[in-house]
Amino acid sequence: MQQFQQYIDGAFNDGAAQFDSLDPATGAPWARMPEASVADVNRAVEAAERAFLSSDWALMTATQRGKLLLKLADLVAENAPRLAELETRDTGKIIRETSAQIAYVAEYYRYYAGLADKIEGAHLPIDKPDMEVWLRREPVGVVAAVVPWNSQLFLSAVKIGPALAAGCTVVLKASEDGPAPMLEFARIFDQAGFPKGVLNVITGGVEAGATLTSHPKVDHVAFTGGPETARHIVRNSAENLASTSLELGGKSPFIVFEDADIESAVNAQVSGIFAATGQSCVAGSRLVISNQIKDQFLERLKAKAQEVVIGAPDDMATEVGPLCTLRQRERAIALIKASEQQGAKVITGGDALDRDGFYFPPTIIDCSDAPNADCITNEFFGPVLSVLSFDTEEEALEIANNTAFGLASGVFTNSLTRAHRMIRGIRAGIVWVNTYRAVSPIAPFGGHGLSGHGREGGMQAALDYTKVKAVWLRTSDDPIPDPFVMR
Ligand code: NAD
Repeated sequence: MQQFQQYIDGAFNDGAAQFDSLDPATGAPWARMPEASVADVNRAVEAAERAFLSSDWALMTATQRGKLLLKLADLVAENAPRLAELETRDTGKIIRETSAQIAYVAEYYRYYAGLADKIEGAHLPIDKPDMEVWLRREPVGVVAAVVPWNSQLFLSAVKIGPALAAGCTVVLKASEDGPAPMLEFARIFDQAGFPKGVLNVITGGVEAGATLTSHPKVDHVAFTGGPETARHIVRNSAENLASTSLELGGKSPFIVFEDADIESAVNAQVSGIFAATGQSCVAGSRLVISNQIKDQFLERLKAKAQEVVIGAPDDMATEVGPLCTLRQRERAIALIKASEQQGAKVITGGDALDRDGFYFPPTIIDCSDAPNADCITNEFFGPVLSVLSFDTEEEALEIANNTAFGLASGVFTNSLTRAHRMIRGIRAGIVWVNTYRAVSPIAPFGGHGLSGHGREGGMQAALDYTKVKAVWLRTSDDPIPDPFVMR
């Protein structure tokens, strides 16, 4: 079996312990992964701290940091096919999606490369005649980045890119479910020429994650994952008082009005819930549909769901692959069973497929008679769509906002005025109008409530990896006056 290595202080090693990684398409082990021990985590954080304080990295100009990030972007683009192959093998995400997504990840590094020397301080028009006061923007320090298994290269790029642009150093913990692409990414990073310790890549589960996020030398924790784990992260950060940014799950409404382009909305709904086998934090997992078009819309959607090509993730023809883990599939089945008992009706799919691997079919559940069923309130992280319907625009908005999450949303309408009212009314970090699941390094991404806080992508994300230092310089040659009066 192939052995992957962790990357600490610019060197690769197998780690003291290893674990098997399973191929989700077969359920069988295919590679050995290094499991970071507490000592490994400590070494990684200390290496990141040394790099942060070292002259090589600390004295590098922002322009030089940007040039290194550009080199990294080129290397990611060059190696995208290999990274895609590994992500597909280790997580079951279909090759059609990983190939396109990883090629685009290079653009995130390019964007933050360009931003590195545009992070500016400020001069203040201070209200004292003998003072010059300005603000320096300095890197926050050592960043602990913790990512889940889905879209890891993307979810890491939106942390590593802005953090390095700002001058921070990073310890990234890849998910124990499918870490291969991140461990391979470390090899690519190593070729870019950054000083050692600037990025360290480890993997492991709760012990490694908890040690890292509560480490006294960590200044900021950038986390993507589920809300339950996020609560642990925030508790861990009580140990080091690190700042946190949390990108969590969602139960995003996908709202379709009777005046929408139905063909386009059906396709976008397919993309919103069945693409990436539904394992997407922004999945449009609650269809909120006008009663005037509900029947025809569901009929077309059901036909599409049943036509989806389910198959091996490494086959370019496959549209839906396996779920990443068996536990996810078991959870989906349990949630659907409970929802059925609460009155929800499965229109298509609903149970595991009878084949090797962790396959689960595109599923649609009508919740008209059970608007508070478990399938409406819980994130599946799988290809499962729950449906509610409405008569009026007010009702649509009420249903859309009736969630503890607040990450993404979609509105399909041909009325400009209605679109604007919905944009204003929806409580979510992203509103897509007549489109869905579009992302870019230039646009911020994130939510509120159970979907977390902070934004990734865009210019603000780089500023979020900085802290402000206020500098006071006295310009008078006269002696300091009365020392007992505050200046
Ligand atoms: P998870 O929360 O189980 O795990 C995420 C990471 O946290 C893993 O690396 C895991 O090892 C680590 N971890 C677990 N316990 C920890 C602890 N006590 N301390 C520190 N680290 C710990 O998530 P998952 O099941 O791997 O991924 C799915 C979740 O991620 C979904 O809820 C999904 O919506 C969310 N997600 C969000 C976004 C976003 O950008 N908003 C993107 C992708 C996924």
